[in-house]
Amino acid sequence: MKYVEVLNNVLITEISKYCKLIKKNNLYWTKCPFHKENTASFCINEEKAFYYCFGCGESGNVIKFIQKINNLTYNQSLQQLSEVYNIKIKHTDISDIQTVMQDLCSYYQNNLSEDILKYFTNRNISTEMIQLFKLGYAIDGVSYLQKKGYAMNIINKTGISSYNSQDRFRDRLIFPILNRRSEIVGFAGRVLSNQEPKYLNSIESDLFHKSYCIYNEWQLVYGLPVIIVEGYIDVIKLTQYGFKNIVASMGTALTYTQLMLILQYTKKIYIMFDGDDAGKNAIKKNINSILEALQSHIEIFICNIQEKDPDDILNQYGEKKIYEYLNLSISLIDWIKQEYTKNLYSSPHSETQYIQTIDQLLQSINSPILRNSYRKYLIVPVSLNNTPQRKWHEKNNKETLELKILLFCIYFNLLEDHFELICNLSFSDKYEDIRLYLISNVYKSNILQEVRYKYDFLNVALSEYREIIYLNKNASQYLMDLINSYQNIKKIQILIPKL
Ligand SMILES: [Zn+2]
Repeated sequence: MKYVEVLNNVLITEISKYCKLIKKNNLYWTKCPFHKENTASFCINEEKAFYYCFGCGESGNVIKFIQKINNLTYNQSLQQLSEVYNIKIKHTDISDIQTVMQDLCSYYQNNLSEDILKYFTNRNISTEMIQLFKLGYAIDGVSYLQKKGYAMNIINKTGISSYNSQDRFRDRLIFPILNRRSEIVGFAGRVLSNQEPKYLNSIESDLFHKSYCIYNEWQLVYGLPVIIVEGYIDVIKLTQYGFKNIVASMGTALTYTQLMLILQYTKKIYIMFDGDDAGKNAIKKNINSILEALQSHIEIFICNIQEKDPDDILNQYGEKKIYEYLNLSISLIDWIKQEYTKNLYSSPHSETQYIQTIDQLLQSINSPILRNSYRKYLIVPVSLNNTPQRKWHEKNNKETLELKILLFCIYFNLLEDHFELICNLSFSDKYEDIRLYLISNVYKSNILQEVRYKYDFLNVALSEYREIIYLNKNASQYLMDLINSYQNIKKIQILIPKL
């Protein structure tokens, strides 16, 4: 048996010498020994023989754990373990894998030829982004590392060598994958031709675990919403256009562990997957992981884009359209309702089926309180009488009209078209604040996003009136009608003095 296999088997034994482990599903959990915490976010995957802390991002195999907890070097840790478990190790087994990964990354970066750079230019990716994201090109990383004197067992640890000891990324663009400490843990390679598969990732290793990775984690900042997209190029392009906190899931799978990782940074997530069928189905495919990660203080919004992907949107319309999609995004619960009620009245059995499907789906939610409120929202009002359309038309008092006028200005960008009219209105209290804010910032490009951040209740209002707003084909006329009704109401109010 190789020493790696022996050590993979003793991960749980070693960690339990230091921590009290609790087994849940297939994972072991404990409070992290590397940072202070009250709830356990340190998890150990026995099958994959590695640990990961959702709180501080520490991860690795048993050698790394012993190194870290006893404050040793990698070599000392390996030495110590090999004595405990009576393993013979060769000198060539010892190498700092991070140095090798850095070396490999620079090699890929240095391979960028005129032709490759032209490809980036054609895709409208700036030189700055090529450098920031350390983009590269693979010729043969394996023979490069061999020439530098690395033994094959070290090269195999990088996750780049194929079964016949060649670079599996040969002739592919390279997107290095960095962890939150900006260490290179893996690579993704994209073909330039029409070959399949379009994307390849590093082989799973001590360093690289696909479902515990998100692309661009190293640039995440705490407290801002996170936008999850599908493609690496989408991340790069959105960053280039000034968006912050953009990550990509690795492919269309969005795992529970990836979401848990993202939720360490934010309470608000926007999912902006591709506009094609694969992208649309991806959310449905991942709905259980999404619900499993959901907690009551977390908001998840789904952006239903019509174009191919965010990159395509930016190329066609610029960042303004991205903001529009963010504004029109719908909350997860509304998305579920929309998706699963599509065939609700197609047959006499469909209602029962719907209830069963939803019930099953909601099993994934961990919090009983949240599960219950989701159930109430999704199941109880499955009759048409409660549709938002109805609500929208029923309520037309002064305050609702004020809100509706603002929503139409905000979400349809109609403010400029009806500027003079809006300027001459006068609203009450909080709506007046927004009206003034809007008119004084009318030409500011990010105004919509700003207003929505600033006045959080607008998000709630939007989800309530979403269908009307979203489906409205003649928004401008509708806004005029709203303004007319509003002015009439005001006239009536003046005629009838308050007692
Ligand atoms: Zn930790």
